[in-house]
Amino acid sequence: MKLIGEIQPLIQMNRKIRLYLEQYKQLYGNEAFINMNSALKEDTNSYKLEKYFLSIKDCMKCALGKNRKNFVFGMGNPNSDIVFVGEAPGKEEDLQGLPFVGRSGKLLDKILAAINLSRNDVYILNVLKCRPPENRDPLKEEIELCENYLKHQLKIIKPKLIVALGRISAMTLLKTKTSLNEMRNNIHKYEDIDFLVTYHPAALLRNPNLKKYAWEDFKLIRDKYLA
Ligand code: URA
Repeated sequence: MKLIGEIQPLIQMNRKIRLYLEQYKQLYGNEAFINMNSALKEDTNSYKLEKYFLSIKDCMKCALGKNRKNFVFGMGNPNSDIVFVGEAPGKEEDLQGLPFVGRSGKLLDKILAAINLSRNDVYILNVLKCRPPENRDPLKEEIELCENYLKHQLKIIKPKLIVALGRISAMTLLKTKTSLNEMRNNIHKYEDIDFLVTYHPAALLRNPNLKKYAWEDFKLIRDKYLA
């Protein structure tokens, strides 16, 4: 891989960067151009996120920390106006240290491509940063211990739109128990940020009949936030 600047030692030191570059290589091929000026400036979102990642990556606040392979922080464009929030890492995400890289992630990539976005245009993260065993639903206590990480990430990124993928992330940020169907058709607010709710890609894989509704949600994102 051809790199601009002396980045090789950094790659060895920082697993997250290496994983990100592997993902980048899969998507874009062998050439990467990195602006070292902005990557190292303390007032940039990428610097703030990296610093925050380093401060929380060894978290042991709940039992999920014991069995994780990787703490899955999030990935994408740290300056994006749009953030997608999933539920928790699955097996593949745990192995690679990146969100939505398994079957659900492949579908998410396709849906994003349909509105002319790639995962590097947006930021993608989860409510939980560690994989629950057998991909069970996150427990209330796990969410309570982990949600401040998500909220702090959102404070750094300051997106214009947050899209909750599924009920867990919608419930966590909106503090409501309303059904996903009722939440779907409204523009909510999280703090001052527009907040939309759509189906989790795993739900679309289980029930392809829901895809037409998810497509309506993504068309709204395209027409209202990307125009
Ligand atoms: N499901 C999620 O909610 N998040 C992931 O990262 C992967 C699958």
